[in-house]
Amino acid sequence: MRKRVVILGSTGSIGTSALTVARQIPDRMEIVGLAAGTRVEELDEQAKEFGVSQLCLADESRVSELEGAGRKVYSGEQGLTDLIEATRPDLVLVAIVGVGGLRPTLAAIELGCDIAVASKEILVMAGEVVMNAAREKGVAILPVDSEHNAIFQCLEGHRGGPEEVSRLIVTASGGPFRTLPKERLIDVKLEDALKHPTWEMGQKITIDSATLFNKGLEMIEARWLFDIPMERIDVVVHPQSIVHSMVEFIDGSILAQMSTTDMCFPIQYAVVWPQRLANKLKPLDFPTLAKLDFEAPRVDDFPAINLARQAGEKGGTLPGVLNAANEVANEAFRKRQLGFPGIWEVVEETMARVEHVDSQVLEVVVEADLAARRVAAEILSARS
Ligand code: MG
Repeated sequence: MRKRVVILGSTGSIGTSALTVARQIPDRMEIVGLAAGTRVEELDEQAKEFGVSQLCLADESRVSELEGAGRKVYSGEQGLTDLIEATRPDLVLVAIVGVGGLRPTLAAIELGCDIAVASKEILVMAGEVVMNAAREKGVAILPVDSEHNAIFQCLEGHRGGPEEVSRLIVTASGGPFRTLPKERLIDVKLEDALKHPTWEMGQKITIDSATLFNKGLEMIEARWLFDIPMERIDVVVHPQSIVHSMVEFIDGSILAQMSTTDMCFPIQYAVVWPQRLANKLKPLDFPTLAKLDFEAPRVDDFPAINLARQAGEKGGTLPGVLNAANEVANEAFRKRQLGFPGIWEVVEETMARVEHVDSQVLEVVVEADLAARRVAAEILSARS
């Protein structure tokens, strides 16, 4: 079957990898809609290459640059939903950073489209609501993040319930400061934090990998995706990023998913699921790898993991508050307005200050997101 796919966030890191996959498996993947934020020229080139006439650009002021030649160009956040409604795809790949992906995702589920989810915010802020909606509509939520895709693959074919899963073991590269002594974290520069040892990604997520907030967000996502309580979600540092995550069952057996570090693996899997398809991606060569290392994460020196655990256990608006505060703090660090350990401090203080609501309905999480951004900005300006 050739799947009709819409990509939200087509010019970002995941979006461009998805188009690489589309070039490799044209018989199985047809791009019917593309959405980008501001990169007009890149979106225009992508639309030409893949013959896509339905587009969306977040930046409304530049829509006219794309129009013409039988194209329909939607804009703004509503435009994402319009694009999905107009194209009625089999699969929507949601790969936009931030809260903007949530509303179109819920709209796509309502229309019966399967969702390949790469945007962390969707499951962090509203995992409960999204998974419930998906169950109700009978649509699949296919994780594209390498860790969740790995767990998804390890659970495929498992006929028992979640009670037979004793632990999800999420692997972490440990980021560029895995071995840096705690007292030197205060001196970390932006340039150092942007050097990720194994994955090439956008700047925001690269900083999140350095603070381990990326792993914290992934723990919360896993909690909802696989319906496993937080206390059964563990993190292990694995610097080579070959084992993408593991599932431990109650009989003590552990299944792991491995591949070279290339996002084309999880993206292709999500697109051709529930089948598999041969490809030309680089296979693993165990003798060359020689060894795989594992170690405990430094949870006391990198507080992101425990903050995420706390948010995931409490649920409601707290995970969304953590996410929003982290976005604000991450951006302040990238603008050199905040030191590296300050990212954790701003998030922790914001989580303590924003009023908690025990609900994840859309209006509530959007409100909590805004409140967290306000509070985090206040904390930042009080610090400077
Ligand atoms: Mg990941």
